[in-house]
This record gives sequence, C-alpha cells and structure tokens, in this order.
Amino acid sequence: MNTEAIKIKDKKPGQRACDEKDAKGKMCVGHLKRWAAPTAEAIKAAGPGAELYRCERCHAIYRPVPEDDSSAGLRYQKQPVNVLGDFSR
Ligand SMILES: [Zn+2]
Repeated sequence: MNTEAIKIKDKKPGQRACDEKDAKGKMCVGHLKRWAAPTAEAIKAAGPGAELYRCERCHAIYRPVPEDDSSAGLRYQKQPVNVLGDFSR
C-alpha cells in the first residue's frame, strides 16, 4: 500500500492564485477553484466535510485555513489581494 499522504496546501484568506512552485522556482499562479468532487483520498486526508480547492493548472490541492480568531485576531487585517490575485485577473 502506498501510505504517502496527499499533499494539501493551506489556502490563506483571500488567496485565489496557486503559489506552488515548479522545479525552476516559478510560481504557478493558477486559479484556485472549489473542488466539487474531491477524490476519496483527498477527503480522507482533509477530513470529511472539508472544503477543498484545486489549482486549475497544477492541480495542487488547497484547504482554506480557518480564520484566525485567537491570538492574532485583534491585529489581523485583511490584506488587499496581493500581486498574485491581480495578476490572475
Ligand atoms: Zn498551481
């Protein structure tokens, strides 16, 4: 059995573009789309009911990080979408 876990990246709040780097260190910047029909392995890795996103280009799997409402909550500000977001549009 292949026990290697599926890699699930954290999708930061507001992140819409893939930040996976290829072998040359170039960012993918593919559009992250809601993954409507995740595979059984992905569901298992992310946990049932998890909302998953997948990059249109490299198919990297993302899971949104929960909004941070604990320690850093007071200082937390939503940053305007970074260069990646603008670039993808
Ligand atoms: Zn990608």
